[in-house]
Order: sequence, then C-alpha cells, then structure tokens
Amino acid sequence: MKDQKDSTVISQTSEFQSKKDKLLSGTDRTAQPEKKQGSVNGAVPENETVLCCPICGGKLVREEKSYRCEKRHSFDRARQGYVNLLPVQQKHSLNPGDTKEMLSARRRFLDSGHYHPICQDVADCILRYQRREHPLLADIGCGEGYYTAAFERLCGVNGIGADIAKDGVRMACQRSKTILWLVATASRLPFREESVDVLTAMFSLLLPEEYERVLKPGGCVIEVTVGSDHLRELKEIIYDEVFEQHKHPVSVEGALVETECTEHRYRMTLPHRELQDLLLMTPHFWRIRQERRRQLEETEQLTLTVHYWVRVLQKTQ
Ligand SMILES: [Zn+2]
Repeated sequence: MKDQKDSTVISQTSEFQSKKDKLLSGTDRTAQPEKKQGSVNGAVPENETVLCCPICGGKLVREEKSYRCEKRHSFDRARQGYVNLLPVQQKHSLNPGDTKEMLSARRRFLDSGHYHPICQDVADCILRYQRREHPLLADIGCGEGYYTAAFERLCGVNGIGADIAKDGVRMACQRSKTILWLVATASRLPFREESVDVLTAMFSLLLPEEYERVLKPGGCVIEVTVGSDHLRELKEIIYDEVFEQHKHPVSVEGALVETECTEHRYRMTLPHRELQDLLLMTPHFWRIRQERRRQLEETEQLTLTVHYWVRVLQKTQ
C-alpha cells in the first residue's frame, strides 16, 4: 500500500488491531472464506430470496428473465445482469446521477487503490460483527460497485448492491457476477422485513427506519461518512475560504444502537492524472473557477488528507 495509514481511532481494541494487521498482511486465511457460488442444484441464490416487490411488498420470484410477485408486478433482468426494481411511477423523478465521464473517472480513481484502507476498515467491522458464514450484505448507494465487490472479496459475504442511478449499477455488473445488482430507491428498499444481516452505507444517506425494518435482529448497519478534513488541501485550492465544520455522524433513535464510532485519517499523494479523476468524481469539480482549474491542471502531484468516520449501528435482538 503506497499511502501511510495514520488512523486516529477513538475506540479500538488490540484484538481488532491484530486481526486487522493479519488482514492487511494477508496472513489470516480464515478471514477470507471462500464464497459459495450462486445456486446449488438449481436452488435460488440466497441474495435473491430476500427480494420483495417495490409496489405491493409481496415476495418476488425469479422467472426466465424477470422477477414477479403474486400480483403479477414484473421487473426485468437486464442483459448486463442487474434487476431494475424502480416502479414506473418513481422513474420520472429519477435523479440523473453521475454522467458517464464522471463514472469512468470514479472507476479509474477507485481502482488506483487510494481508498482501499476504507474498504479494509469496513471489512474488518463486517468480520467482527458477522454471526454466520457468508452473511447477507446489502450495500446501499453502491454506485459502480467498488466497495460492494471489495466486501465480497475480503469477507466472503453474500452480496447485494443497490443504487438509484442505473448507469452506475450497469457498470457494477462487471465487478462481480455473484453479487445481485439492483436499481432501487433507498427510501423503500426492496427487501423483506428482517432479512438482511449487514447493511453498508458508504458515503450515502442514512435512513434508520428503513434499515431497521429490513435488518435481522442483531444485524448491523456499517456506515461511513466524510470527516471535516476530508480532501481539505483540494478544497483550499478550489475555495477562497474553507469553512470549519464539525462533522460527526448524526445520532439515531429506535431499535438501532450505536456500538462503535471510530475516526480515521490518512494521507495520499496523487499524481496529476489521479488528481484530475478525483476532481471529476467530486461535487467540487462543478464549483471550480477557471483560474483555479488551470492551477490544478498544472499541479503535478498533491498530497491530500482522507478523513472519515466508521460507525456501527446494531439492531437490538
Ligand atoms: Zn407486487
């Protein structure tokens, strides 16, 4: 790993650290269980059994190239492999999401590995909280699938990736054939009550009530949110003034209980090309002034702070 990890962790046990060290060095073979592939003897893969109809809530059953509920609401499986579970009436309000150019920049940047420590931190949480082999994990706001595929690879989870933006989900299909990729809205997740072991929300909105509904008792949400110093050096170039803002994950009520919340920080040095990709994939790109853009275009490399919080919310038994 080329970036020096320097985490400021509020609560972290030494056992955690040792397991993480093993994970990072790849010596802990038990940490990477082999994933059971798809269906056995024609049985439905487990990640498909949790699906429910986004219109009536009924159980969805796979037919040839579509999924149907008892009331005959039908949803197609696309050629690339994803399932579009957005009801027609929700499609018109669809956020157009990222452009193809932004998605390609995001893919190149993530594949460069600069955010791998983030995957590793979440993977470590998944392993520590998992209560059975191959837990069913749904990654909400999966985008082009970088994190979802990493969790499958690092933890052997039975994965589902869901996002409202179809272009991203279409790209995600290339990352894994065993993950079930869905176009769906986070505000009404197409999963049965108490069916999912782990939910991940990587820099996406937290919707506690919906998460609480679909999680099994004892299951957990692992949420990653940006810290106030995230990409500070880039913001200092783009904006005249970078406002101090204390970002901390918002508190939740109900059956989800915060069991840990850790702060992480490290530095990464980006060569020119990766810096341009990062710019393209962040909202900052759209606010940049011409002369600042020129300054960044001439920057050969830049060292940036990565700052984020990892929080685990567990559903009471
Ligand atoms: Zn239905």
